[in-house]
Amino acid sequence: LDFLRGEDPQIADALNAELARQRDSIELIASENFTSRAVMEAVGSVLTNKYAEGYPGKRYYGGCEKVDVVEQLACERACELYGANYANVQPHSGASANFGAYLALVKPGDTVMGMSLDHGGHLTHGSPVNFSGLMYSMVSYGLDPETELIDYDAMEKLAKETRPKMIIGGASAYPRVIDFERMAAIAKAVDAYFVVDMAHIAGLVAAGLHPSPVPFADVVTSTSHKTLRGPRGGFILTNSEELAKRINKAIFPGAQGGPLMHVIAGKAVAFGEALKPAYRQYGRDIIENCQAMGQGMAQGGLRLVSGGTDNHLCLVDLTPAQVTGKEAEKLLESVGITVNKNSIPNEPLSPFVTSGIRVGSAAATTRGLTAADFATVGACIAKAVFGKDNPAVLAEVRSTVDNILAAHPLYPGLQY
Ligand code: PLP
Repeated sequence: LDFLRGEDPQIADALNAELARQRDSIELIASENFTSRAVMEAVGSVLTNKYAEGYPGKRYYGGCEKVDVVEQLACERACELYGANYANVQPHSGASANFGAYLALVKPGDTVMGMSLDHGGHLTHGSPVNFSGLMYSMVSYGLDPETELIDYDAMEKLAKETRPKMIIGGASAYPRVIDFERMAAIAKAVDAYFVVDMAHIAGLVAAGLHPSPVPFADVVTSTSHKTLRGPRGGFILTNSEELAKRINKAIFPGAQGGPLMHVIAGKAVAFGEALKPAYRQYGRDIIENCQAMGQGMAQGGLRLVSGGTDNHLCLVDLTPAQVTGKEAEKLLESVGITVNKNSIPNEPLSPFVTSGIRVGSAAATTRGLTAADFATVGACIAKAVFGKDNPAVLAEVRSTVDNILAAHPLYPGLQY
């Protein structure tokens, strides 16, 4: 990237340092991935120059014919991938997609039900510091304390008591299959809209490896950058023409101005990649690898919330190792493993400290790590947290991590 280096070496240096960081650690943040070079080229293109308020064929600016092709393709591919009738690919992020869904379906002050943040929900599902908690009357459902699975019976009871206008399914830290059909029946019984935020599992749904919410939900929101492996951004799907119109109005002019056409091009490329047969194998590998990592951690003495995983992430209770999530995050970073601290169900510590970590397999699977590598990584996590005070153990883990990284180079040839 000679132009960037010539114009702004400080930023080029920072980008290069970030590339080195991504290369030099095993990326286990469950919400991250490595996009293809094709996606990065689309996002770094001339489309960043174009204003295109409105929708294909109905823009508020001239010169939109070419970007119309891009947005149209993105919408068509999203619909094909998920078997949906309508797509809006303009949300700048997952939070914006959710804001659009709220704006389209409910009024400020209405009761809305989402999954408790403490039990794995997202900020936009009702946190008091988020627009959702600030503007709507939020009630939360959560997990059964014994099984650590979503308690659908309790959810139904709460819905009947509180009569929400909208129910949101989907989570940021739930390692099991979600029964969207059951949730849709609960929403129907109380005459509520049913929205599914499939951000985390969008790639698994695309690959046919998690039941799709599209046949059951009124509206499906998502990010494009987690398991799906596209650029950072959001999108919304629905099968209803009437709701599609409301969603479009809610996103523009309701919530946003001009769409990020370069990012929409990246989304189109990512949807296209996910439509190819190889993507299904990627999805299978994500799940197999995550289970191998989970077994490695469990055999090493850590406890997996709900006893395991069906998807791309494990939620890990660190209590057996007497280390907090905050400490583990730092410790693992020092041996080349990137994770995030995460609350566990009925968390006794603050969200800044936590008793757990969340680990995901999507990014490192893209990098090419195998199930055997993931089993080793899981064992390394357990070794590091139990051996936190033993420099020899930590050095051994670092060397194992370095060998795995060297065997799977990231973005070969790329340099800023
Ligand atoms: N929804 C869920 C379930 C998420 O996990 C996240 C992000 O982690 C979002 C929405 C928000 O996405 P963004 O960070 O793009 O706003």
